[in-house]
Amino acid sequence: MADFDIVVLGGGPGGYAAALYAASAGLSVALVEKEKVGGTCLHRGCIPAKALLHAAEVFRTVEHAAAHGVKLPDGFTAEPDWPAANTRKAGIVKQLHGGLSGLLKRRKVQVVIGEGRLLPDGSVSVDGQNLKGKATILCTGSVPRAIPGMDVDGERIITSDHATNSTADRLPERAVVIGGGVIGAEFASVYTDLGVDTTLLEAMNDGVLPIGPDRDVANVLAKSLAKRGTKINAQARVGTLELTANGVLVPFETPKGSEKLEVDQVLVSIGRRPVTEGTGAAEAGVKVTDRGFFEIDPTTMLTSKPGVYAIGDCVPTPGLAHVAYAEAVLAVDHFLGENPVPVDYAKIPWVVYTHPEVAWSGLTEAQAREAGHDVVVHKHSFAGNGRAMILGETDGLVKIVAAKDGPVLGMHLVGPWASELMHEGYLAVNWEALPSEVGRLIHAHPSLSEAIGETMITFSGRSLHG
Ligand code: NAD
Repeated sequence: MADFDIVVLGGGPGGYAAALYAASAGLSVALVEKEKVGGTCLHRGCIPAKALLHAAEVFRTVEHAAAHGVKLPDGFTAEPDWPAANTRKAGIVKQLHGGLSGLLKRRKVQVVIGEGRLLPDGSVSVDGQNLKGKATILCTGSVPRAIPGMDVDGERIITSDHATNSTADRLPERAVVIGGGVIGAEFASVYTDLGVDTTLLEAMNDGVLPIGPDRDVANVLAKSLAKRGTKINAQARVGTLELTANGVLVPFETPKGSEKLEVDQVLVSIGRRPVTEGTGAAEAGVKVTDRGFFEIDPTTMLTSKPGVYAIGDCVPTPGLAHVAYAEAVLAVDHFLGENPVPVDYAKIPWVVYTHPEVAWSGLTEAQAREAGHDVVVHKHSFAGNGRAMILGETDGLVKIVAAKDGPVLGMHLVGPWASELMHEGYLAVNWEALPSEVGRLIHAHPSLSEAIGETMITFSGRSLHG
């Protein structure tokens, strides 16, 4: 006899979305979480990181207030207030945590705080309690990857877990960020804008966002960061870190030679690894891949063990909260006996909340060519866009990749509010819209979105301002 329709193990975006969605469909749900509902995204990931990025944006705006026609008192210099930025961030996290807890309660989800373990009979044991569901959903998340020999102490050598929960009374003066991926780029952006002398060390050939976005947009971000003072080093090989009286000594090699930098803080952002060990799942018969993820059938999110689903960062799909949400819906719909449409991972929305923001959906130009499409590409810079000029943020562009006489295959953005603008491209890519169909639609003037409309029109061989 099952106590619940669904038992969810892990209360991050995957887990709480599964619980909320299942409960909204009338199912009885238990949600087991060892810390606080909300997981990495809410407590040490997306939300706090974006709150700190916003603090950096306000600081930039105030610094440039005079250029926008706002006079500040003579001798005024804006200064980052790191504790205040962190207090505001903590308030937002607390409010969201309260809202989420309340929502789970109203949906009558039984939240059990404690470390759960999957048992071979498919039930979940928590502190001596046994929760049996008709199905179980594993959403145990991920943790930052560490470099062997680089002991993360949370103060001088940190990961995003610490960077998003700083209790320091001020920012480091000098920092090294190891890894130029999403987290590295976002923190390099925050630190640089708040006046930290920031060096980025990336192992691959491109120093900033080497994997993911179209090079044309990643290069605009790299150029902007460099212009603002981030020292970007590609093809960097980091040696053994050494704690010193004043900080950390970071030896590294690049094709330009060897260097040794002493900094106050090192942020290690070299990726995340799934949390699957210690969950009891492998022992209970759930297959785990070589890289430690739960193996799943992406059409259902079922693992190799009947009745057990897995979603979110613990499965080998993009580690994004919104992807976990989509996987949660898919798993629950499948449990309900529906025939859900699987997630199309090649067409999901991606956003990097740096300054300027980078966002994309669908194929890059290189991927489209590799896939054998006869590719047509058009770009439109924000430099001539009225709204971007008004904002004082003209660094950036729209790049649209389409098949010749065919649909939009990818849209890539860098620039102001790319995070929000991108959803038009997401829709176009997933709807397989023709550029001419989107180009025929009216984009308000003046708006940043006009740059998308103008790029779509260009595919007709005619243009307005392009
Ligand atoms: P990542 O995989 O995006 O980037 C890691 C980078 O580190 C890579 O570019 C890699 O080449 C580099 N690297 C690895 N080892 C290195 C070494 N020894 N020296 C130098 N460079 C090295 O990982 P991340 O930035 O840590 O992010 C982790 C996860 O969090 C990702 O799955 C990401 O999707 C997610 N995340 C997403 C967002 C967002 O969508 N805005 C923000 C933060 C995190």
